[in-house]
Amino acid sequence: MSTEHNVVSVSGGKDSTALLLLAIERGTENLQAVFADTGHEHPETVAYVQYLNDTVFPIRTIRADFTDRIAAKAVFIADEWREQGVAEEKVLRALAVMKPTGNPFLDLCIWKGRFPSTKARFCSEELKRNPIIEQVQRPLLDAGDDVVSWQGVRRDESENRRNLPERECKEVRADTGAELWNYRPILDWTVDDVFAMHRKHGIKPNPLYQQGMGRVGCMPCIHARKDELLEIALRFPEEIERVSEWERIVGDAGKRDVVGQTFFTARGESNETAYSVGSIWQRIEWSKTSRGGRQYDIFRTEGEQEGIALCTSIYGLCE
Ligand code: SF4
Repeated sequence: MSTEHNVVSVSGGKDSTALLLLAIERGTENLQAVFADTGHEHPETVAYVQYLNDTVFPIRTIRADFTDRIAAKAVFIADEWREQGVAEEKVLRALAVMKPTGNPFLDLCIWKGRFPSTKARFCSEELKRNPIIEQVQRPLLDAGDDVVSWQGVRRDESENRRNLPERECKEVRADTGAELWNYRPILDWTVDDVFAMHRKHGIKPNPLYQQGMGRVGCMPCIHARKDELLEIALRFPEEIERVSEWERIVGDAGKRDVVGQTFFTARGESNETAYSVGSIWQRIEWSKTSRGGRQYDIFRTEGEQEGIALCTSIYGLCE
């Protein structure tokens, strides 16, 4: 007889924390809490997940591993790039950085030779969704057990979450008959409901919410708003320093100096030859401006969204 396992994805954000508290409050059986660490989280978020682990429920941390894919890419570069006539100096620079660092986000970008972007959103899938499927859900389904994937998404967050069903069957395994279900019990909750759940259980929210962050997760996220980027630069300059170093490494890993080799890329990147808008430092300078980037506004801490959408993953894995 199969067992039903309940898997809650914890991001360190308010919604997934409320979701975990709800699962515990209901006395949910065979409960697992999982944190997919991207390697690009703010240290406060990593510490907050540890706090939840210590005070609320044991949380298993998992990470994506790109070791094999980077090794295969190195072989590809050595053979194919040279055959394609790529400059030897470029080949050697790429091979020099084609080594896993153990940081999932950076290793993903080294393998891809580029950063993810608002149009090429492979980060959430590669760093969160796939590791959870491969390392947590698939072994349970392989064993013939059912899996209920709890997702902390809310209708009022975005248009593509508005019409999501509370429950949906995603997969029925032909070999074992095991079923994978998505379950979204806080779909109709408001932000106030979410923070009320924290208070009800005496759990403090992630402290980043009190430091100007509208959402927590990667620091910065590729979907960061202009005002959030400015807040990050002012409060956590060490995170910008880290990304700047990553730009150098990923710049060496890519074949051409095109879109994707700076952390934030240009709009209209469907044109493959479009150039990025510049380094993260240039983007920070832009974040200090108003009026289309032409005028400095150093006192502004809340800004327009500049058409950049928040994370649109319907899984809510990035909060
Ligand atoms: S938080 Fe943002 S940058 Fe990080 S994986 Fe999610 S979408 Fe990508």
